[in-house]
Amino acid sequence: MRNWSGHVEFTSERFESPSSVTALQALVSGSTTIRALGTAHSFNALADTTGVHVSVADLPGSLEIDSAKGLAWVPAGMRYGEAARLLDAQGWAVHNMASLGHISVAGTIATGTHGSGDRNPTLSASVAGLEMVTAAGDLLTITHDDPSFAGCVVALGALGVTTRVLLRVEPTFGIRQYVIDDVDHESLLAGFDDVFSSAYSVSFFTCWTPELTGKIWMKRREGRDAPLTDAQLAGEPWLGGHLATAKRHPLPEHDAMHCTEQQGALLPWHEALPHFKLDFTPSSGDELQTEYLVPRERAPGLLRDLEALAPRIHPLLHVSEIRTMCADELWLSGAYGRDTVGIHFTWKKVPEVLGLLPEIDALLGPAGGRPHWGKLYESDPAALASRYPRFDDFAGLVATFDPTGKFRNQTLDLLLGSRNVHHDHR
Ligand SMILES: Cc1cc2nc3c(=O)[nH]c(=O)nc-3n(C[C@H](O)[C@H](O)[C@H](O)COP(=O)(O)OP(=O)(O)OC[C@H]3O[C@@H](n4cnc5c(N)ncnc54)[C@H](O)[C@@H]3O)c2cc1C
Repeated sequence: MRNWSGHVEFTSERFESPSSVTALQALVSGSTTIRALGTAHSFNALADTTGVHVSVADLPGSLEIDSAKGLAWVPAGMRYGEAARLLDAQGWAVHNMASLGHISVAGTIATGTHGSGDRNPTLSASVAGLEMVTAAGDLLTITHDDPSFAGCVVALGALGVTTRVLLRVEPTFGIRQYVIDDVDHESLLAGFDDVFSSAYSVSFFTCWTPELTGKIWMKRREGRDAPLTDAQLAGEPWLGGHLATAKRHPLPEHDAMHCTEQQGALLPWHEALPHFKLDFTPSSGDELQTEYLVPRERAPGLLRDLEALAPRIHPLLHVSEIRTMCADELWLSGAYGRDTVGIHFTWKKVPEVLGLLPEIDALLGPAGGRPHWGKLYESDPAALASRYPRFDDFAGLVATFDPTGKFRNQTLDLLLGSRNVHHDHR
């Protein structure tokens, strides 16, 4: 068994996908080493285990919406895009989506996965409650009013196996997507706040070519963002570029067929907030990804610093994406306690990438950059843990929830061991 991109070979002794919560409870309580696996989209060994890999995808369950409270229970093993479709069919929405909807709900929230938008927090931040099977095999429901809840959402699979997730929902809304071509880095950095506040969700894509130009993808929320002016629609200069005349793919020269519709078509939120359509596989997995979540006010300076690495980044890169998100309260979220900018790299699947990761870390880490938990990074575990003010509280939760260390793996051992939370679970 391998991860989605194929470069991580899992070391689990077997894979189980129970079809009832009772069977899951028995499996977890009877195992000495076990770990939840979502859709295996992470680019590192975070989801790996030497024991049992367990999926919740076959558990029975459906959406349960409480319209009065604006809350919906969603099966944790469902793909996020499917949950989004079902919500929309009943007139509801979540505030944002990641670049594609193929990823499980549980895996999405366990790693602090995010989309973009100055006023949009991570997807994990829309979680109001969780149902999970604990190490002892008990079924526990924990909600936002519990003092430890903020440590239980972005939990890296360390606290239990999540079976259902309670999401905050809002009435369905429409999005119009546009792309602006030929935006040079200088214009982006000079007008950083103007660009990222120009729509509900904004991404900047760049390949770090010598010309240092990129594209703005904007997702305008109907009824909230102003319609485009005639001049903007006519291709007048705007935000350092001009409106694209055809549909685009984030990677130059790639067919945009599988991308969500652009050029102003009014679409339901879940068909335009992701970059890729749910019914298509966006690529073969022939890529690696790295992302650092940096303090927003440091982002323009750090992007300028990265320009020095551009000649080395560009040959190894498919494309980079810059996104924003507002602060949240989740202890292990990349956006914990501060407005944040995600500096993301979609790499070619070549070993030379691994040689560049320490340099990226040396540049972005000391500036408070937190690597995305589900992507590739090369960081000293102690330094990494120190970038999360509540890391020791999280380590305390792990010790309480999982006293024998059955959910631990090498990644967690390194992280928690760096804060003297040792456990020999083998
Ligand atoms: C093509 C592609 C595009 C992506 N786009 C984005 C993006 O736009 N924004 C972004 O932020 N990230 C993005 N990612 C990263 C992705 O969102 C994360 O890696 C996410 O964690 C993957 O979810 P998964 O279900 O595959 O989880 P897995 O990789 O299977 O597991 C990740 C973690 O979640 C835990 N987990 C999974 N299921 C459960 C469960 N039931 N209970 C408890 N813990 C569980 C695992 O133990 C593990 O620790 C992208 C990845 C890919 C491959």
